[in-house]
Order: sequence, then C-alpha cells, then structure tokens
Amino acid sequence: MEWKLAVIGDPIGHTLSPLIQGKMMERLGVRGAYDAHHVQPDGLPEFIRYARENLDGFNITIPHKRAVIPFLDGIDPYAQSCGAVNTVCVREGKLSGYNTDGDGIRAALAEMGADFAGSRIALLGAGGAARSICRKALDCGAEAVRVFCRTPEKGKALLPEGDGRGEVLPFSALSAESCGGWADIIVNATPLGMSGFGQDFGDFSFLDGGRPAVCDIVYKPSETALLRACRERGLVCRNGLGMLIYQAVYAFRLFTGMEFAAGPMADFLQDEVKKALGQG
Ligand code: NAP
Repeated sequence: MEWKLAVIGDPIGHTLSPLIQGKMMERLGVRGAYDAHHVQPDGLPEFIRYARENLDGFNITIPHKRAVIPFLDGIDPYAQSCGAVNTVCVREGKLSGYNTDGDGIRAALAEMGADFAGSRIALLGAGGAARSICRKALDCGAEAVRVFCRTPEKGKALLPEGDGRGEVLPFSALSAESCGGWADIIVNATPLGMSGFGQDFGDFSFLDGGRPAVCDIVYKPSETALLRACRERGLVCRNGLGMLIYQAVYAFRLFTGMEFAAGPMADFLQDEVKKALGQG
C-alpha cells in the first residue's frame, strides 16, 4: 500500500512532522508520502473534502485543532475531553479524530521514571497543551493536579466538572511550598523560556522543597533556564523533545497500525530532530 498522509497548519513552515513521520516511514519500510499543506482557516472545508477522497490520514497543528472537530465522523473520548484533535485517520471517506499529545507526554515521563498514576502534578499554564496534559494526568489516575495560571477561567476550564482532584492557583502563587515541596511531577506548559518568546521565569525557588521530576515541554533551546535550574538542583528533568517525538509515534501507529518502538528507535528520531534544530 502507498500511504497518503499529511499535516495541515497556518503557518506550516516550522513543522517537524514531515521529518519525524518521514523518518519513521523510511525506517519501517512504509511506502508513501507525508506532505505539509498550508491551510488557512477559511480553507479548512475544502481541505476536508480533499482529505476524504485522497488521504489515509493527517495531522493538525495550530490553528485547526479545535476547528476540525465539527467535520469529523467520530472522535475519541480523550480528544473530545481535550476539545482538540491532532490526528485524523481517514477510512473509506470517514474521518476519525484523536489527540496523541497526552500519550506523548506520558511516554516522555516514563523515560524519566515518572508516571501520572498516583502522582501529584503541578501544571504551569492553562493553554491547549496544558489541557491535553491535565486530562491525560486525570485519566491516568493522578492523585491531584494543581494548575498554576494567569487567567483563572482558563485554568478552571482544564478541570472536568465534578472531579475533585483539580485546583487552580494564580501563577504568582508558585512557591517551594505550593509547588516543589508538594508535587511529584512539575510540567511547564507555558512558552516561558522558549527561544524568541522574550520572557522567562523570574526565579526558580518554586522548584525547592522536594524532589519533583520536571518536564519542560519547550524544546527550543534544548536547555531552558528552567531545566538549567533543575540540573543545578540535581532534579530529574527533560525538555519537550520526548513529548514531540512520542505524540508523532502514536499518530503513526493510528495511521498505519505499525509500532515504532520506544528505546533505540525513539533515540534515532530524537537525534534526527536535534540535527534539524541545530542541537545535534
Ligand atoms: P497556548 O495555548 O498559547 O497557552 C500558553 C499558556 O501559557 C497560557 O496558559 C498562557 O497564559 C501561559 N503564559 C503565556 N505567557 C505567560 C507568562 N509570561 N507567564 C505565565 N503564563 C504565561 O500555547 P500551547 O499550545 O499550550 O503551548 C505552550 C508551550 O508548549 C509552547 O511553548 C509550545 O511550543 C509548547 N508545546 C510543546 C509541545 C511538545 O510536543 N513538546 C506540544 C505543544 C506545545 P494566558 O492564557 O493567561 O495568556
């Protein structure tokens, strides 16, 4: 079979998906193409018509992750609870939507010896990525999730109604007591520290007071100031490359049914992405 796969977004030039998916196809001998399509918001209906007829699946990046939902014939419950879809499989013209970000971060955490199950999670930020992470943490049996954010309504929207395990705190309440001394896992899901963003954390004393594992989902630069502060404190920590790679691995499995195993195969992908980011 010749797989016809794609990624859509606006802008689309920065996406690493064709590189990652292309390398997986090459490694596993999967024939076909994975192309990037620049689709602006008003072009989404036309792209969907094209996809029904011509594609086996596609990934979705900003700004279409939510907008695609009304076009789907089916949606996985986790993607529904995230309110965002990043992977669509096309079977006989029918579109099924999934979100692989949650499994992506879960696999990245597993590489650090961390697991949402039974853990207290401090989540920094309340945007799209934070929502996927929050819902996955709760689905996987987190003991509690504390969302630190600037906009309380956005934080509250992350938490499913009637689930008493979540709470929202102001971003300014980050401290050793509320965060580092409380959490088993800290995830930064804000763009603070990202190359080109121009803003960073003011101080890192919120990491103190315990031994949390820290995942910064930012992956450019490879070591953010947050991760440097973690390293100086001897904390187990990783950047967002693992999440990026594993969300793609899970999308590939949904598309093709083929497993791209963790371990050396994922290391190979990380090396390829690092090269592309100039971090090799
Ligand atoms: P988003 O929807 O725009 O959300 C960003 C969040 O960060 C919002 O809660 C925002 O708060 C908060 N924030 C922004 N500036 C802040 C500041 N100065 N202080 C405190 N909070 C601040 O973005 P996203 O899509 O969730 O992405 C967030 C980051 O994760 C980006 O850097 C993105 O590149 C990265 N990411 C990585 C992966 C991966 O696979 N590794 C996947 C997705 C995203 P307000 O709502 O109050 O503005």
